[in-house]
Amino acid sequence: MNLEELAGVGKSSAERFAELGIDTPLDLLNDFPFRYDDLREVTPAAQLARAQDDSIEENAAGTIVWVRERRARRLAIVEAELADESGSFIAKWFGRSYLMGALRKGMRLFVRGRTQRTLTGAAMNVAIHKVLAEGETHRGELVPVYPAGKDLTSRKIRQVVARNLPKLLTLAGEDPLPKTILRARRFPELREAYRSMHAPGSPEEANKARERFIFTEFLALALAAQMKRQTRSAARSARALRASPALLGELQREVPFPLTAAQQRVIGEIWDDMARDSAMNRLLQGDVGSGKTLVAAAAILLAARNGVQSALMAPTEILAAQHAAKLSPLLMPFGIAVEAVFGSQGAKARATAVARLGSGEAAVAVGTHALLTEGVEFESLGLAIIDEQHRFGVEQRARLRSKGSAPHTLHMTATPIPRTLAQSIYADLDVSVIDELPPGRSPIETYVLRQSRLERAYDFVRKNVALGRQAYIVAPVIDESELELTSVVAESERLQRIVFPDLRLGLLHGRMPARDKEDAMQRFARNEVQVLVATTVVEVGVDVPNASVMVVLDAQRYGLSQLHQLRGRVGRGAAQSYCLLIASDEAEELERLQILAGSNDGFAIAEEDLRLRGPGEFAGTAQSGLANFRVADLVRDIAVYRDAKAAAESIVADDPELRATAHAGLRALVEGEPSARAMLLSS
Ligand code: ADP
Ligand code: MG
Repeated sequence: MNLEELAGVGKSSAERFAELGIDTPLDLLNDFPFRYDDLREVTPAAQLARAQDDSIEENAAGTIVWVRERRARRLAIVEAELADESGSFIAKWFGRSYLMGALRKGMRLFVRGRTQRTLTGAAMNVAIHKVLAEGETHRGELVPVYPAGKDLTSRKIRQVVARNLPKLLTLAGEDPLPKTILRARRFPELREAYRSMHAPGSPEEANKARERFIFTEFLALALAAQMKRQTRSAARSARALRASPALLGELQREVPFPLTAAQQRVIGEIWDDMARDSAMNRLLQGDVGSGKTLVAAAAILLAARNGVQSALMAPTEILAAQHAAKLSPLLMPFGIAVEAVFGSQGAKARATAVARLGSGEAAVAVGTHALLTEGVEFESLGLAIIDEQHRFGVEQRARLRSKGSAPHTLHMTATPIPRTLAQSIYADLDVSVIDELPPGRSPIETYVLRQSRLERAYDFVRKNVALGRQAYIVAPVIDESELELTSVVAESERLQRIVFPDLRLGLLHGRMPARDKEDAMQRFARNEVQVLVATTVVEVGVDVPNASVMVVLDAQRYGLSQLHQLRGRVGRGAAQSYCLLIASDEAEELERLQILAGSNDGFAIAEEDLRLRGPGEFAGTAQSGLANFRVADLVRDIAVYRDAKAAAESIVADDPELRATAHAGLRALVEGEPSARAMLLSS
């Protein structure tokens, strides 16, 4: 059915609806109001403007005592005194001179607007008014307010919906929710819920309908997650890898420091999973520097002891090389050799690595996407570790796993994911958290500075370099662009020429060839480069303990979690480290950035980020499609999510593939909701 078939929609308004993504009558039915103006009750004049919150709109009705027009700074203001039995107030209309001809003493008006108290009583900034006829009492309703478009007012949308509502409601289709769910929660049935969204009798009715739609979106996601879990655990196709009771003690003896309590706990969780014959699917979260490498080593050790191989895949060569360098000494005492597989490695080195992995001689492969190439085969891959999992596509993660038969999978991330997100969009994963840093780290001191203080920040860099330390300077874009942002290329030239002519500077950005990037990192790691000017490619995992200052230019551009990640590049050695966040002089976001100055806790920062910027900011969340909700909001509606999750668990426990007739609607729902589909595809 075409939108133009609706009353009140012509060719040109159909185009304007299309700009809002409303192409069909069904889209219109699903275009929900974001609020309702409650015009039902009027407040007596004497009680207006009593609320603390002056953003609340109030309704009133009264008879015009006088009307006049005055001007303030070229703006015409029409004012009228309106009286009812309780008293009177002043109604004001801004920039609407023409009303002078329409409003007369003695007329009765209904008005709605924001109110405030003045010295002479209440005043209302009128948003809506209606002239009441002789003897007419105000009969108001809840007026739905729709998100407007550039050329399409909320009022026009409201009119079209109202005129066509019965017709639109016939499009509602079968209710996907089983009766039991509706009854237990007192949810309205689908068609009734649509009606309540567009023409509610009361705010409560609208809320209940909205909750139903939120619940439904969450239920689809939770069902998909639960079905994946169920399938995996039912398959029992993984190798159970058992640890001898002495293994943790052995590991502890060979590591040069005591494991933190968090590391021990997490290793226990991972080993327990790997001891089952259903494949592990676990996410390991730990702030930068929390010691994830050792945990990965423990998982690899268990695999090796059980005679199966492991593969660790990282998103960049720098990171993969670093992993190989850190894992080798940890695994050496156990006689486990690490084989590197990089895109840039020579043919001969690659051939050797491939041969050793194929024969089973090498127990561990550490590498980049190069691990996914055809030639790389394993004798028996039992454990796949994916570092910074969100940087890989679904396809790539699946391809790594397909090199073994149902290998246990450990995803790692240094971006703390807020609990609410982990519980929902990563609901098919078990989550382990290293919530403790190894002892002896002093917190990084963080300062927020205005752009006009930039030279001070650079002085500070110079002082630290004079003490033998190194610094990162991070800028948001590679080249000059029309955006008024600092480019790394231009800034590094300027710094070398004018600010630090006597220092050794390096440049690192994502468009450099892999070789050059690697080379720039190596030179920085050897302290041949004192100041590394870079884009956010240094964000993840790069480890140079002598670097003690991180300067972030245009810091207002980033999410808090991303800044926390960048900050984690320093503070990895013994020296006191500093992070200087430079915000443009115009930025209004200093307060947001100050949160970082006040906290070094990645999880607390992540929660704050989620609250301020929504789930899209998190590691690949936006691209994954997992948080693509139309009505639901994971932060606001988390209680509804928990309810939906519990419902999904009990449904899937009884009917793992949703085959029951009563669940036909649910099955269609899981296949139709974007977030649920993404969940089924994700890994
Ligand atoms: P992550 O990968 O989580 O950012 P790493 O595994 O690179 O962190 O560990 C950061 C540093 O802390 C490394 O130098 C590592 O040797 C050290 N480390 C790890 N665990 C401990 C521990 N229990 N006690 C002391 N130092 C540790
Ligand atoms: Mg690491």
